[in-house]
Amino acid sequence: MTNRISHWIDGKPWAGAPERTGEVFDPATGEVRAHVDFAGAGQVEQAVASAEAAFPGWRDSSLAARSRVLFAFRELLVQRKDELAAIVTSEHGKVLSDAGGEVQRAIENVEYACGAPQLLKGGFSENASRGVDVYSIAQPLGVVGVISPFNFPAMVPLWFVPNAIACGNTVVLKPSEKDPSAANFIAELFAEAGLPPGVLNVLHGDKEAVDGLLAHPAVKAVSFVGSTPIARYVYENGTSAGKRVQALGGAKNHMVVLPDADLDLAADAAVSAGFGSAGERCMAVSVVVAVDPIGDELVSKITDRMRKLRVGDGREPESEMGPLVTAAHRERVSSYVSAGVEEGAQLVVDGRKHGVAGAGFWLAPTLFDKVEPHMSIYTDEIFGPVLAVARVTSYDAALDVINANPYGNGTAIFTNDGGASRRFQNEVEVGMVGVNVPIPVPVGYYSFGGWKNSLFGDSHAYGPEGFHFFTRTKVVTSRWLDPSHGGVNLGFPRNV
Ligand code: NAD
Repeated sequence: MTNRISHWIDGKPWAGAPERTGEVFDPATGEVRAHVDFAGAGQVEQAVASAEAAFPGWRDSSLAARSRVLFAFRELLVQRKDELAAIVTSEHGKVLSDAGGEVQRAIENVEYACGAPQLLKGGFSENASRGVDVYSIAQPLGVVGVISPFNFPAMVPLWFVPNAIACGNTVVLKPSEKDPSAANFIAELFAEAGLPPGVLNVLHGDKEAVDGLLAHPAVKAVSFVGSTPIARYVYENGTSAGKRVQALGGAKNHMVVLPDADLDLAADAAVSAGFGSAGERCMAVSVVVAVDPIGDELVSKITDRMRKLRVGDGREPESEMGPLVTAAHRERVSSYVSAGVEEGAQLVVDGRKHGVAGAGFWLAPTLFDKVEPHMSIYTDEIFGPVLAVARVTSYDAALDVINANPYGNGTAIFTNDGGASRRFQNEVEVGMVGVNVPIPVPVGYYSFGGWKNSLFGDSHAYGPEGFHFFTRTKVVTSRWLDPSHGGVNLGFPRNV
């Protein structure tokens, strides 16, 4: 017997019998730990109907009532963050300290949403024309869909859900089927915090659930995070069905190291950002661009650090890197290592020889040097613990490599030269830039998003752009007639 993970609809677990289910693994042991229900058309309909029915009441709730629920949710999340981190580790595999960091960054977004009364204030212009006032108000959209990836099962749902409900929307969240339990934990905490039934529903499943949300006329907007081909698909299908869509896609993040950089700092950063969460982060560094002449020294420092990394079960305190999420993903990443060798890159550390016992989905940190832009280990997002070093002769050559890449999620420059760093910020075609910071995920009161194939749509996630995405504005022009009103006038209204 394994556990069953089911939908959360109308403030309670769904009690029906699923037509299809999926296996959820413990990646560190390789065992099936649960089965998750996959939604069909009927459950999509139920979840959307529940959100639709809850919308009028939630839209009309006071700002004070909404922010009180968010404050209460934030308190519960802080109290129970270790439990949520443990759930993430058990299904994703990332080490507990990393899962704790994920939950902490999620809390940041909840704290931002608690400020909804301030953030939803509109503008007011008194006497725009004589006796005429003009003001703007931001209103919710209705039912919104949130579709999230496996790699941040707690944080990515909480990039969107708090802001969406703070703005007065109701939500159907479709988390990844690979690690679905965090979403249910979040929904239960929201219910405990006083969120009315139907305001947040969790619908589990795969493409069928996603397609159901994209086609449903009551779903007014979709926030998606996942790989680039699916992000493009969701954007194209959602917008052609008349929905507002923000679809965040994959990445290939470059870290440039200039010759004047502190190479110990740069090597620490490359190893941390390359292999943290087994490279399964959309902001992971996957390519180190070493500007001549520091390549040999940097590769040697990175290699020294890699040899000391401890790979193992994420629940063990000494583990620094856990397994990959599924056996299929481990095979895919491993096949890229073979391809890199065939294509002529220099394999410096081979993670296929990992030495970890048991049937978990293991692959140890891998390093390639002298990687060229035509190789598949450079062109493709591998999404595993495989770091590539590309060597270039100058700053300009490094910039050209990055700007020619079709992805534009994150990047970083390591240097002690303020002028070079300033040029880089200005010239690089990437949405999030780190200066001596390898994973520049913006804080909750800025917004997160890449450029080019890393984001489809025009709004970034969370922060001010999140509030913008989840509302539509209305401008009211108002006059209360007084005895000076001048009678009929067919001319175009002028501001006098
Ligand atoms: P994925 O694209 O496979 O899945 C994302 C979501 O889409 C899941 O909920 C999944 O059930 C659904 N889905 C999968 N296939 C589908 C299909 N054919 N039709 C409709 N829906 C489908 O992504 P993943 O493997 O879960 O996550 C890893 C990817 O997410 C990486 O590419 C990573 O870079 C990206 N990511 C991007 C960001 C960002 O902010 N840009 C953040 C995290 C992850």
